[in-house]
Amino acid sequence: MPPACILAVVTATLGLSFGVVFAGSTSQKLEAKPTQILQGDIAELRVSGTGLISVEGRIGKETIRFYPAGREIYSALIGVDLQAKPGLTKILLRATTRNGGHREGQITLNIKPKKFQEESFSVPQEFDQFSPDVLERIRLDQERFARAFTTSVSERLWEAQFIRPAQADISSPFGYRRVINGTPRAPHTGVDLRVPTGTEVLASNRGRIVLVGDFFFSGNSVVIDHGGSLHTMYFHLSEIKVVEGAEVHKGEVIGLSGMTGRVSGPHLHWAARLNGARIDPFELIKKLGGASPGDLHPIVE
Ligand SMILES: [Zn+2]
Repeated sequence: MPPACILAVVTATLGLSFGVVFAGSTSQKLEAKPTQILQGDIAELRVSGTGLISVEGRIGKETIRFYPAGREIYSALIGVDLQAKPGLTKILLRATTRNGGHREGQITLNIKPKKFQEESFSVPQEFDQFSPDVLERIRLDQERFARAFTTSVSERLWEAQFIRPAQADISSPFGYRRVINGTPRAPHTGVDLRVPTGTEVLASNRGRIVLVGDFFFSGNSVVIDHGGSLHTMYFHLSEIKVVEGAEVHKGEVIGLSGMTGRVSGPHLHWAARLNGARIDPFELIKKLGGASPGDLHPIVE
């Protein structure tokens, strides 16, 4: 059976990182040209301006946290959900200056569709239906995950770069779509790593454990909060070696791989969420490796 994937979204490309410059003291806006980002990717957003002491961003209802990244430069990571609607979307920015003033700006993102692998197959109906009891359990599981994702410290706990939680090949890629008995299913919101049962699973970066439990789809699972609404997840473990509330460092063993939950064989499902967006966890390795920072584009003069 397909492993359950409960998570998802947001994109940007480092190297393709982009940003804005707050300058002057008036509020007239100059908008940078739309920045392209693929579904499931991440990007770094950089904002600078004379006298800035803090910056905050919003996409829809999500607040984007910015962190100091140099003299009067602030950066944020944004992600695009793997099922985000393609098209233009705005990030609203509000900066506070040393003299207590505020400046506003915005960046337009152009979300581009990504081509994900797809496969269709049929299974007997009885394998594909859940009893009311199971449906209720799934609902409660989803509530616990949703609560865990709202738990995030504002402090950025991670340091570049993220590491692969196990040295293994990918057996099922991010975003993979299955059509079962003619009905499209939820896309694969993580990456499956081909590891035998009992392999050590490592924290991909520093953080705090915000969820540990045994769930219907994901089996024995661990969720780490890396701060600033960035979480990583580790599913189908045979053994969990951490408790909720514990601090973990990058590379610390958090459990052993296995095949718990609704799976057909041993593997590690690794997933990430950034500001609620289900993103490809490998983006955290590929794009946070200290690549050269992106340009700062003027947006307010
Ligand atoms: Zn998976």
